[in-house]
Amino acid sequence: MSLIQLTATDLLKKLSAGEVTSVEVTQAFLDQIESADKQVGAFLSVTKDSALEQAADVDSRRKAGKPVGLLGGVPVAIKDLLCTKGQVTTCASKMLENFIPPYDATVVRKIREADGVLIGKTNMDEFAMGGSTENSALGKTSNPWNLDCVPGGSSGGAAACVAASMAPLSIGTDTGGSIRQPAGFCGVTGLKPTYGRVSRFGLIAFASSLDQIGPMARTAEDAALLLEAISGHDPMDSTSANVASPQFSQTVGKPLEGLRIGLVKEHFGDGLDSEVEATVREAVKVYQSLGATISDVSLPHNKYAIATYYIIAPSEASSNLARYDGVHYGHRCDEKQMIEQLAAEKKAFEESGDEEGLRNMDTSLVRMYRQSRAEGLGPEVKRRIMLGTYTLSAGYYDAYYLKALKVRRLIRQDYDTAFKEVDLIVGPTTPSTAFKTGAKTDDPLSMYLEDLYTVSANLAGVGGISIPCGFSTTGMPIGLQLQAPPLAEEKLLQASHMFQQATDWHTRRPELS
Ligand code: GLN
Repeated sequence: MSLIQLTATDLLKKLSAGEVTSVEVTQAFLDQIESADKQVGAFLSVTKDSALEQAADVDSRRKAGKPVGLLGGVPVAIKDLLCTKGQVTTCASKMLENFIPPYDATVVRKIREADGVLIGKTNMDEFAMGGSTENSALGKTSNPWNLDCVPGGSSGGAAACVAASMAPLSIGTDTGGSIRQPAGFCGVTGLKPTYGRVSRFGLIAFASSLDQIGPMARTAEDAALLLEAISGHDPMDSTSANVASPQFSQTVGKPLEGLRIGLVKEHFGDGLDSEVEATVREAVKVYQSLGATISDVSLPHNKYAIATYYIIAPSEASSNLARYDGVHYGHRCDEKQMIEQLAAEKKAFEESGDEEGLRNMDTSLVRMYRQSRAEGLGPEVKRRIMLGTYTLSAGYYDAYYLKALKVRRLIRQDYDTAFKEVDLIVGPTTPSTAFKTGAKTDDPLSMYLEDLYTVSANLAGVGGISIPCGFSTTGMPIGLQLQAPPLAEEKLLQASHMFQQATDWHTRRPELS
């Protein structure tokens, strides 16, 4: 098997046995990026030189018998919304196209400290708003299983690069499904941890009460390794949970006895593709054969989850994105041209004697904000800012935002009730498999419905994982979602590993020409 086909866990074994060097491993993935990424488009930037330098440093320490970190010279790709010191971090937006952060996000720092080799930054929906990566202002990403299909989103590049063997590990973020959905669409393993498990310091915020960073990999074992490297309390993020982080890589292999699995009635209703349903039900039988007991549970408020999410997330986004005005942060319009245009407008009003027009004219400052934002932000981001500004405005705040917060509480209570009966909730990650590029771009609502089974976990703050559980007749991967009570990532990973020991869906790779 070639190096790029190996899991991170297997690469680590070879690295520590001295059978291969980190420079060789890194070069193998760089070569694959060189040949496959022309078709897939997973990366926005590749940091070849610094990756090889980092790899050489790990190799020399290993050779000298000095300590080497948990990730021991294995490459990791990073979604391009985590700050990387000295290296452009774009959020796939024209607004931040030239932004070079002066510091590392905590997760990036931890990966460096664990000797993960930072190989590049991956494409995504602009500011993580979307479910197909089509909202990227900086490039197109294709699904490695069918280049005419989307990879999912917003962490589409992070999922596609693992599926196409361009990196063994990647970092994604999940605000409403953006790790799990692309993992499902690309046939890889993606874990959204409990809110607070991983520090958000240095993550460019979309919706701060929902955003969470997590690992994407081929296997649960590899996801456990990366989660162990990045999780833990961080004084720089006051919402990071002040609890000890388990050694996920040590516990992932322990099978769970007497596992109680709940199937959410509401996840098997309208809108679910019949092939996806049949495949997921087969996967549940695998758990049964491994000794798990299966019962039905209900999340009665799940039907309000999409509506609730699409009020709360845009509300927070409208506030978080106010800083991109060309002064505090981001793209600034051409000021000279803008001043000339304002002067021309003024002259025209004066000549026509339009008093009202003159009175309502922008000041140059307001025009600069307005124009910078108009040029720097894409249509979906603007839609969210407008939605959020509306739902937070006086007179509508109570009816929308406050109401949504109350429903959010009910959604969380549904989970608390369900988890009294079962250890894990299992169901489909998405209602269907990856769709054709362009199929949903003109219909935002149908795009939002992709998140039907994923947004609740973010609203409730619980963890969830998507693992490959089969393929459609058209050859597209199908994802199985497992959700667990707060801070039960060990269980999620163990249960996923059990499934992956009993099946081989996760070992399949797309054939790229
Ligand atoms: N698809 C969802 C959205 O567009 C989720 C995005 C995410 O998790 N970042 O908001």
